[in-house]
Amino acid sequence: MRKRSFFGLSGPRFNYELATAAVGDPVAIPIPETVTLYIKQELKRTSSILKVGTPVKTGQRLVLDEGSEICTISSVTGTICAIAPFLADYGRAWTAVSIKTEGKDTADTEFAGASEPPSLDTLNRYLAACPGEPNIGPLMDERNPVHTIVITGGNSDLLIDTSLYVLKNNADAVNSGIEILRKTTGIEEIVIVVPEESVQNYSGHLDARIQAVSSRYPYAQPLMVLHHLTGRLPDERGMAPMGVCLIRAEAVAAIGQAFSTGRLPVEKTITVIDKNGVKHLARARVGTPVGNLLKTFGVEINDRDKIIFGGPMTGSAIFSEDLPIGPDTDAILVQDKSVIPLYSDYPCINCGDCVRICPANVPVNMLVRFLEAGQYADGADLYDLYACIECGLCSYVCSSRIPIYQYIKLAKYELDRIISAEEMNEQ
Ligand code: SF4
Ligand code: SF4
Repeated sequence: MRKRSFFGLSGPRFNYELATAAVGDPVAIPIPETVTLYIKQELKRTSSILKVGTPVKTGQRLVLDEGSEICTISSVTGTICAIAPFLADYGRAWTAVSIKTEGKDTADTEFAGASEPPSLDTLNRYLAACPGEPNIGPLMDERNPVHTIVITGGNSDLLIDTSLYVLKNNADAVNSGIEILRKTTGIEEIVIVVPEESVQNYSGHLDARIQAVSSRYPYAQPLMVLHHLTGRLPDERGMAPMGVCLIRAEAVAAIGQAFSTGRLPVEKTITVIDKNGVKHLARARVGTPVGNLLKTFGVEINDRDKIIFGGPMTGSAIFSEDLPIGPDTDAILVQDKSVIPLYSDYPCINCGDCVRICPANVPVNMLVRFLEAGQYADGADLYDLYACIECGLCSYVCSSRIPIYQYIKLAKYELDRIISAEEMNEQ
C-alpha cells in the first residue's frame, strides 16, 4: 500500500521527445531472410501443431497446441525452419519460432472470416500479439470490470519518437480502433494521454478525451499516468481491481487497421538511436533481426558496445544483434563502449540522491537494501515498493551505480509470481 504522497522532482530535468521535430517518415526495412517470433509459452515437448517444414502465411495465428490461447502472428509468408526454447527476461520460458521467408506475401484469411461482427473474443484471439501488444486480458475479466480505457500516447522513455509518431500519423486507424473498443467492450470512457506540449497535434482529430500530462519525464510513464488519473497505483494485486485498462496508441491503431482491412498488421514502427544520439524511424516486420535495422542506418557494433531495447532510463540490454524486434519493441538504442555507465557492486553510500529525485517519494535508499538481499516482501511492506512508477531515475543518479531499477522490476516480478502461485493453489 502506498504510504507517502507524491512530491515534485528535483535534480536533473528531462523532457520527452514530442515527435514534432523533423525525424522524417519511417524507413521501410526490407523483409529479412528469416524472422523469429516468440510464443510466450514454454516448449515442454514437441509442438502438436508447429513443425519444422510447416508452411505459414502472413497474418497466420501460430500456437503450440490445439486450443491454446497463447499465440504469435506470423509476420511473413514462408516455412518454419526452427522451433526452440527461449529464455526471456527474468528467466521466463518462451518458445522461439523461426520462419524462412519467401519473396512475396500470401495473406492468411482466417482473421477476415472471424472479424465480423467484432467481439472481445476475436480481439483476444487475434490481436494480442500484434504491434503494440494490445492488453485485452483485463477487458475480459468479469470479476474486475473495467470502466476506463486509457490510451498511452506518450513515449515510454526519453529519446523515443514511436508512440507520438503513430498517434500523429495514424489518426484514422486510431479512431477505428477506438470505435472497435467501444463496440466490443461497451466502455464509453476512453482517454488518450499525451504530453501537454503536443496536445495541439491531436485535439479535434481523435474520438476520445485528450488528457494532457507534463512533458517532463516521467509524467507520461504508464504508472505515473495511472496515478494522475486515479490518484492510486496498483498494489500486489496488480491493476485488475482498479477498473482501468492501459493500451498503447500503436496497439489501438493496430486494432483499427485490422478490422478496417480484414488483415492483421505485422509491421512495427521503431525509433533507432545510434551511437551519436541521432534518431531514425523505421518500419519493419515483427521478428526482424536487430542487426538488419542497425545495418540500414549504418550503425556498426563493436566488442563491448551495448544494444538496448527501449530508452536510456528503462530499457533492457540484449546480448545479440540476431535477436528479433518484438511487437512491443518501441526503440533500439546503441551505446558505444566508451560511454556505457557500468553498474558496480559498491555498497550504497547513503547519499540520498535517489530519494531526492524519485517522483513517487519512495525511500529508495532503504528499499534497495532489502531488494539486494532478496527480501522482496519486506521491501514492499516497509519501503513502498509498489509506489514505484518504474521510471529508472534513481538508477540514473545513483553514485554507487547500483542497478536499482532492475532490482525493483525483479522484485515486482518475483512477488507477482509468488502471489499467482498462491492463488492457483487456493483454487
Ligand atoms: S524507478 Fe526509482 S526513482 Fe523511479 S519511481 Fe521507482 S524508486 Fe522512484
Ligand atoms: S543514490 Fe545510490 S548510493 Fe545514493 S542513497 Fe541511493 S542507492 Fe545509496
